[in-house]
Amino acid sequence: MSLELNNVTLTYPDGDGVVTALDRVSVDVAPGELTAVVGPSGSGKSSLLAVAATLIRPDSGRVVVGGVETLGLRPRELTELRLNSVGIVFQQPNLISSLTVVEQLMVTEHMRARSLRRARESAMETLAAVGLAGKEHRRPHQLSGGERQRVNIARALSGRPSTLLVDEPTAALDHERGAAIIDLVSEATRTFEVATLLVTHDTEYLGAAGRVLEMRDGRLSVLERT
Ligand code: ADP
Ligand code: MG
Repeated sequence: MSLELNNVTLTYPDGDGVVTALDRVSVDVAPGELTAVVGPSGSGKSSLLAVAATLIRPDSGRVVVGGVETLGLRPRELTELRLNSVGIVFQQPNLISSLTVVEQLMVTEHMRARSLRRARESAMETLAAVGLAGKEHRRPHQLSGGERQRVNIARALSGRPSTLLVDEPTAALDHERGAAIIDLVSEATRTFEVATLLVTHDTEYLGAAGRVLEMRDGRLSVLERT
């Protein structure tokens, strides 16, 4: 199901006034579609993802995730929705250093009330789909930076979400590994039929995106490609 933001405005308190992080933003991402958002630092990209993830409630507008209108939901309902419908990939993988790769995914799978056996099976399946077969029993320090980011993406996909939100996944990687991660996000978008919103400042990788939008001072527009 698609991800839909409609006329979303978000402000943060700033001294005696407010700073407008999102200014009447609308975007619709279909299942299996990768939409990239570029823009300078401070333009509102992370705020956009936080609102789409239902982590921040906007001042106004509509946020529809997996077919569900979210603004009227209670905190418990939002938690449930995030667990089952939203996959989030932050810049830093934030893996738990004492757990193996498969265990990283099992933690959240188990939170989805799966049995340990089901959680393990499902985790192994997801890891194979992102090219991590054979690495399931390694710990984070035994992986490369690119592999850690793969685990991060696998973990985000493990609940088979309808929406995948990715914030600057290449920031800590060199060009080649960065390009590989964007390719993986692109491939996973099709394989898992997720509506993907990818934030990046690396405009060189954008060939994989179905559509590129530009954020400037909280306003979203179609990027004119030259
Ligand atoms: P980007 O991800 O493009 O760098 P952000 O969404 O992080 O942009 O920030 C957009 C604007 O909102 C910036 O002016 C930033 O300073 C401000 N901002 C972001 N988070 C907060 C916050 N928690 N409190 C106050 N202002 C914030
Ligand atoms: Mg940011």
